[in-house]
Amino acid sequence: MDVLNTPNLMEKIVSLCKRRGFVFPSSEIYGGINGFWDYGPYGSRMKRAIEALWWHEMVEVRDNVEGLDSTIICHPRVWKASGHLDQFSDDMTDCKDCKSRFRVDQMEDPTTCPNCGSKNMTAPRAFNLMMKTFVGPVSDEEHTAYLRAETCQPIFVDFQSVRIAARQKLPFGIAQIGKAFRNEINPRNFTFRSREFTQMEMEFFCDAESSMEWFEYWKEQRIKFYTEKLGFKEGDYRIYEHEKLAHYAKAAIDIEVKFPFGWGELEGVHHRGTWDISRHSEFSGEDLQYMDHDNSRKVMPTCVETSVGVDRMFLALLAKAYDEDTAATAKEGMTEDVRVVLHLPPAVAPVQVAVLPQSKKLKENAEALYRTLVRYFRCEYDETGSIGKRYRRQDEIGTPFCVTFDFDSVNDNAVTVRDRDTMKQDRVNITQLRDYIEEKIGL
Ligand code: ATP
Repeated sequence: MDVLNTPNLMEKIVSLCKRRGFVFPSSEIYGGINGFWDYGPYGSRMKRAIEALWWHEMVEVRDNVEGLDSTIICHPRVWKASGHLDQFSDDMTDCKDCKSRFRVDQMEDPTTCPNCGSKNMTAPRAFNLMMKTFVGPVSDEEHTAYLRAETCQPIFVDFQSVRIAARQKLPFGIAQIGKAFRNEINPRNFTFRSREFTQMEMEFFCDAESSMEWFEYWKEQRIKFYTEKLGFKEGDYRIYEHEKLAHYAKAAIDIEVKFPFGWGELEGVHHRGTWDISRHSEFSGEDLQYMDHDNSRKVMPTCVETSVGVDRMFLALLAKAYDEDTAATAKEGMTEDVRVVLHLPPAVAPVQVAVLPQSKKLKENAEALYRTLVRYFRCEYDETGSIGKRYRRQDEIGTPFCVTFDFDSVNDNAVTVRDRDTMKQDRVNITQLRDYIEEKIGL
């Protein structure tokens, strides 16, 4: 189904996420907290699978990218140096009548309240998005610290330590996955704009001369990630080239994809010049330049960044995967029934293989098979309800393969593997099953 032309798609996704334990509001029994979301049993599996896939493709298979897992709270000077304390703000305006607050750049007409239509709006004021806390027992200015607004700043701060420890030479990159926090004025569109979210960022350090080539290289690599690893096709994504660039940047693009509310930014590939590293050099007093022994010169590394939000990728994948079809039914009062299917890429599906005994009498054999498969794939065992119902349950969470252990299996040591998308069934010998599934998943 086309993401942009499916009526009520967001409502359907939000309701499916809640019903099946993908994502639900944080602190829900207290009424929730705006802009914060919890990932439930299936959601946390899928989120981790997305992160693992990114980490594998960006770090593990590359010998020129190192990993980092830094703290969320850094020295407050980090955010002074990066410019966040002075400039990381959005303009907001308040409606004096209904007390709603809006981000000015998201309003069609900043003089009119989108909520109640009043013209009684405050003048726009800058609102800093950094989240504050206190470190130590005293809550005063001196002990104020900030939750990181992006995962990349600690990468710049740790640049020399990582480079020396990993014995890397330019060009090389440092990647990190972790939480970021922004006091967004108007969290909305489900997890798309949250106040706490997870980023996957990679900073690639090179010399200025080759930096545009690296920019093109990473742009291409990231597009390939979506097309080759996650099944995005032409038309599912588009590239937005920034016209207005930061004074230090040479180029910047966004990879935009279709969300249920329209096109939206999923990932940015940015040329950041030497801005961050030189600012941290200046503010810390540490020389963060790189000694290029081959050319006997010191260089301030230029940086190309790839930056994506996990929560947005998760939402984009659900939106792209969501499908409904109708099938004839014998249910009383109905002629057809709606089947909800998530056509998720097997690499990120929360359950990759469901093991279903044809009858509870086959529990022992089916459970033994499940226990073998669970060592290689994300699996689930389900023996309750009719086979049709169990298929439905799995389709709804995007399980690509359902393995049914039936009465014949006891004699022929084979099982039926049903494909979620084609609904085709293959009879596969249990000794071949792992290879069969691995090949289909593309492992
Ligand atoms: P936007 O313009 O949508 O606010 P941004 O340009 O400020 O995003 P960046 O600072 O470049 O975003 O952050 C990199 C990535 O982090 C984004 O492409 C997005 O995937 C993710 N991201 C940023 N802000 C949020 C948020 N509030 N909630 C969820 N993900 C976010």
